[in-house]
Amino acid sequence: MTRHLITSAIPYINGIKHLGNLIGSQLPADLFARYQRARGQEVMFLCATDEHGTPAELAAAKAGKPVAEYCAEMHAVQAEIARGFRLSFDHFGRSSSPQNHALTQHFAGRLAEAGLIKEVSEKQVYSHADGRFLPDRYIEGTCPNCGYDRARGDQCENCTKQLDPTDLIEPRSAISGSTDLEVRETKHLYLRQSDMRDKLNDWIDSKGDWPILTTSIAKKWLNDGDGLQDRGITRDLDWGIPVKKGDQDWPGMEGKVFYVWFDAPIEYIACSAEWAEANGKPEAEWERWWRTDKGADDVRYTQFMGKDNVPFHTLSFPATILGSGEPWKLVDYIKSFNYLNYDGGQFSTSQGRGVFMDQALAILPSDYWRWWLLSHAPESSDSEFTWENFQASVNKDLADVLGNFVSRVTKFCRSKFGEEVPAGGTWGPQEQAVIADLTARLHAYEGHMEAIEVRKAAQELRAIWVTGNEYLQEAAPWSTFKTDPDQAAAQIRLALNLIRFYAVISSPFIPDASEQLMQAMQSDDTAWPEDVTAALESLGAGHAFTVPDVTFRKIADEERAEWQEKFAGTRD
Ligand SMILES: [Zn+2]
Repeated sequence: MTRHLITSAIPYINGIKHLGNLIGSQLPADLFARYQRARGQEVMFLCATDEHGTPAELAAAKAGKPVAEYCAEMHAVQAEIARGFRLSFDHFGRSSSPQNHALTQHFAGRLAEAGLIKEVSEKQVYSHADGRFLPDRYIEGTCPNCGYDRARGDQCENCTKQLDPTDLIEPRSAISGSTDLEVRETKHLYLRQSDMRDKLNDWIDSKGDWPILTTSIAKKWLNDGDGLQDRGITRDLDWGIPVKKGDQDWPGMEGKVFYVWFDAPIEYIACSAEWAEANGKPEAEWERWWRTDKGADDVRYTQFMGKDNVPFHTLSFPATILGSGEPWKLVDYIKSFNYLNYDGGQFSTSQGRGVFMDQALAILPSDYWRWWLLSHAPESSDSEFTWENFQASVNKDLADVLGNFVSRVTKFCRSKFGEEVPAGGTWGPQEQAVIADLTARLHAYEGHMEAIEVRKAAQELRAIWVTGNEYLQEAAPWSTFKTDPDQAAAQIRLALNLIRFYAVISSPFIPDASEQLMQAMQSDDTAWPEDVTAALESLGAGHAFTVPDVTFRKIADEERAEWQEKFAGTRD
């Protein structure tokens, strides 16, 4: 047995995420976690909200709330939506937790002892009116290059020129609009990532099985230009984890906090400590997932993320872990995703373009979205959501293929044999052929799921559903019944068992439908089918069932047109 530690990139706290964010990490991570659990493996599946940094402070200010209160509320909102999509986290934590405070300070202390932290003096813009240092992107002014009057301190949006805040003409605070700004000297801690370059390079070279998307991004950051750069790990902010060296004060760093990129990945570890606390378990229970000196040697750790997060997970976070000199578990496999686009353009949080997670659940149950997103996961390249494609996929795959099979089989049985699995007849060559076909396809499906080839797994699962439909079409029990009722009974017995079989193997993709079908079949035998023949004999003659309500409904053209218009832009 392998123990699977699975983490999804942690979503930022401000606001509700769109479907592109969902398929970029949380949803495929959930698919993999559910599959491994279904195969009987021990799984620890973790996710959290990323709560520190300036955007959280500004969003809280806009909402007129203290930032801690704002984050607590938004965490609850995101947790509720995650439940709505049936994301089966063992724990959904918070990067602002006491556990993450302690661990982040611990890692910083270890890195300092190892000589991997340096102090750097730099000049930063201070706003008197706002009473704070301003990050570059929160300073606006006129671009010296093109004259655009809303250029940001890091870049001009109009001419794309990279800028320093001091380049701007008539700079002002993007928060308050105040021009009462002053350049001040401030001291920050930097992680000496450049010193770790060879170590990181060797480690990445040892990962021959990683997807090319993952390693190519990592290598680019390691080697392009001047190579891996040292990176600031502190900020002059109020909201965040106070800079400390373990539990000791850090002279000269009073009033500063760790930079959000430094503490966010450490939350993966802290999250498991939060899980232990929430479940009344001792420390050893989470440490056995993370410390190779405390039992984590047999753990396989898989991370899921969008491609924009790859540099942090292949370089910065491993630099923190390797630099600590302690036996923490490093990631074994990184599954990264390209982007999902929306109907001819991009999803846009700022413009409200595309479907957001709460809106999606308001119009259709989560399985409809789970199926479409997973079967169109942006793996080898970006993919695109269109309403036409969504409608076609739901209507064909879910309603016509799977839903219709269930409906025909159960209704036919009820009308001819009653609501129980009929006795009589035997399986012949036709049934043996179906079982052989299903066995081969099931093995292919398992192979894709183990390899986290999400689209291929979805295609194979759909092919397995189609196999049942084709059998039903060819065997035609409604015709057989007229001449040989016993043989029709044997055919329907197989078909009813196929419904349970489908429910079990489809559960990682469509957990709610799977549960509905298990209830209709009145079965609690959720064991993964190791042997297809045996699995198709699970429900014996006389076993009672009920005809389920519609498993998947079709999407009408009018609805599709209405939704297309509704989500074209400007979320309220
Ligand atoms: Zn410009």
